[in-house]
Amino acid sequence: MIPCPKCGGEAHRSHTRGVLERLTKAVTTYRAHRCLDCGWRGLLGAEKPIGRNAPRRKLTILIAVIITTVLVFALMGLIDYTIDSAKNPRKKHSTAQSN
Ligand SMILES: [Zn+2]
Repeated sequence: MIPCPKCGGEAHRSHTRGVLERLTKAVTTYRAHRCLDCGWRGLLGAEKPIGRNAPRRKLTILIAVIITTVLVFALMGLIDYTIDSAKNPRKKHSTAQSN
């Protein structure tokens, strides 16, 4: 149990919401918490101390960044493809496009 930063009440672990919280959970010791007294919700640092595993954490962050970048590019490619096919529904997709 972690004290609520707003009222000092009991902040309990809350379910992660969205990609950002999931990513934060993956690369940091921060976890989503919710206060039972005032309803505050946010990310709070975990109880376990960090420092010794610093190089490992850096690697984890690097992997997370790479995964996110690949995901973003994959998403962008998908969006680009969708827009392209919406613009030219009858046109065949060719790899060589003159721009
Ligand atoms: Zn509170």
